[in-house]
Order: sequence, then structure tokens, then C-alpha cells
Amino acid sequence: KADMALYRSKEVSRGGYEFFDHSILENLLRTRELEPALRQAITRNELHLMYQPQVCISGGEVVGVEALIRWESREKGALSPNEFIPLAESTGLIVPIGEWVLREACTQLREWHDEGWTELKMAVNVSVVQLKRESFIETVTTILNETGVSPRSLVLEVTESGIMDNVERATQILGALSSMGIGIALDDFGTGFASLTLLKEFPVEQIKIDRSFVSNMETDVESATIVSATIMLGHKLGLRVIGEGVETTRQLEFLRNEDCEEAQGYLFSKPMCSDDLVEWMQGCDT
Ligand code: C2E
Ligand code: CA
Ligand code: CA
Ligand code: CA
Repeated sequence: KADMALYRSKEVSRGGYEFFDHSILENLLRTRELEPALRQAITRNELHLMYQPQVCISGGEVVGVEALIRWESREKGALSPNEFIPLAESTGLIVPIGEWVLREACTQLREWHDEGWTELKMAVNVSVVQLKRESFIETVTTILNETGVSPRSLVLEVTESGIMDNVERATQILGALSSMGIGIALDDFGTGFASLTLLKEFPVEQIKIDRSFVSNMETDVESATIVSATIMLGHKLGLRVIGEGVETTRQLEFLRNEDCEEAQGYLFSKPMCSDDLVEWMQGCDT
């Protein structure tokens, strides 16, 4: 079948559709190769989490960490989540993987709380595919009980993509999670078409300004305006605002001037393994 696709692709490319057709073919082949490997990633212990600090801009202290998944595949080497999360979503594998992430992140947070970092929050990315599952709330509750993590210490980061086809259902689930005390953050804010509708409908408590705006705000008036306006909008709605992808002190100063609460980005640190994160926090403490 793959040969057939290859053959047909050559045919088509003569017709001048090379670019379009190639990317489809590449995706197809890649997906075929990756899927069986991804299926085994959990049991083979190939997944791990990295943690990136989220810093309070006015006080400088770490308020939370975002858990970011990494896959070290036996066959394929290190893969970025941008490469395999979409595949995990389209195959449904995101459900067991997402559950693994949540359990791993909460287990780690429990450890950090026991070690005295009691105020630390854990932000976990959640795909809409997970969110829409009947069992999602139960999964979250079970993991919180298992690990003894308080719902107030957990933040779920959701993006608007995919949510719009069933806003009602998503709102209902997020509402239930929020009333348990779990924080909901709207990730990549501003990149989709529905951001404002979602702010109105969803029990969100935090918005994360997408990195694309933050990285361009020094050179591009439009981005700067969008960042300022988003912070103002967030505040008027009573939300905390976090700037993503902060890489320079000028970007940080800009956010500070606009009274943005939190920042996350390479300026503070890249995502780190748990031991490095602790060392990093100790360095900040002194
Ligand atoms: P995201 O949720 O928007 O996460 C932020 C991404 O930006 C991370 O990439 C992080 O390493 C990167 N980043 C943070 N600060 C900076 C900076 O200052 N400069 C630059 N250039 N990049 C920065 P990463 O870890 O490769 O993750 C990519 C995306 O994959 C995430 O975007 C998220 O959408 C998804 N993802 C990661 N982990 C999970 C997970 O456990 N579950 C789900 N469903 N998605 C995940
Ligand atoms: Ca995120
Ligand atoms: Ca983001
Ligand atoms: Ca993103």
C-alpha cells in the first residue's frame, strides 16, 4: 500500500502538485512508522517529563511549573511533542499518554510538596481529546486521591483548538473541574479564532499569551499592542495573565510594565528534569 502511494505520488508530482502531495505522503509514512512505537512508549518507559518554571514577575519567586512531555524512542531517538502529540491525538493514544502525564506530574508534585515546596503548583497540558472523554473527571479525581495532591495545586492548560465543535460539553467538564478547585488556563491565547468566546463561556482563571506575540513585541507594534490589550482584557475579567516564551529582559520589562502577573521562558530556564528544577529553585531561594 505504501508503495502504491509512493507510485501515485510520483504520478501526481509530474502534474505539478509536488509540494502538497509530498507532505501528505511524508506524514503518512511517518505516522505508520511512529504509531506502533508510540503505542509501546509507556510500557517501554520511554516517556518522561521536563519541568519549566513559571515565575511571579513582581516578586521573582517560582509559583508553578509546567510539565512538558518528552519521548526518547528506542528506534527514533528523541522526538518533540509537536511531532508525536498530534499523532497521539488522532489515534486516541493521547488518552493513556495523557493519564500517564497527569499521574507522573502529580506524583512529582507530591514529592516536592513533601520536600517543603508547599506553594508550588503543577500545570499539565490537556488535549481536548482527553477532556471530552466521559471518564476524564474521574481520572483526574483518582490521580489526585492517589497522590494526595490538592486540586488547588493543579492547573490544567487547555487550548481552544478542537473545543469549538462542542463548547457546551467542554464548558460542562471544565466547570466541574474548576468547581473542584482545579485551575484552568487557556493556553496559546490569541492564536485561534475563538479566544474571546471561550473567555466568556469558560471557567478560566488564567490566560497564557502565546509565545508568537511575546517574541515579536519588541519589533512589531501590532504584537506589542495585542500583548498589552490581552493583559488588560484578562485583568478586567479578573484573570491572571502569564507571558509565554519570555527570552529577553526587555520582554520581561514590557510585561512588568503592563502588570502581567507571571512569566515563563528561556530567560528563566528551559524545561529541566526534576533534579535540576529543584537545584534551580534552591538557587532562586538564596
Ligand atoms: P505549549 O504548551 O505551548 O508549551 C510551551 C512550549 O514552548 C514548550 O515546547 C516549551 O519548551 C517551549 N518554550 C518555553 N519557553 C520558551 C522560550 O523562551 N523560547 C522558545 N523558543 N520556546 C519556549 P515543547 O516542550 O516542545 O512542547 C510543545 C507543545 O507540545 C506544547 O506547547 C504543548 O502544546 C504540547 N505538549 C507538551 N507536553 C504535552 C503533554 O504532556 N500533553 C499534551 N497534550 N501536550 C503537550
Ligand atoms: Ca502549555
Ligand atoms: Ca502555550
Ligand atoms: Ca504553543
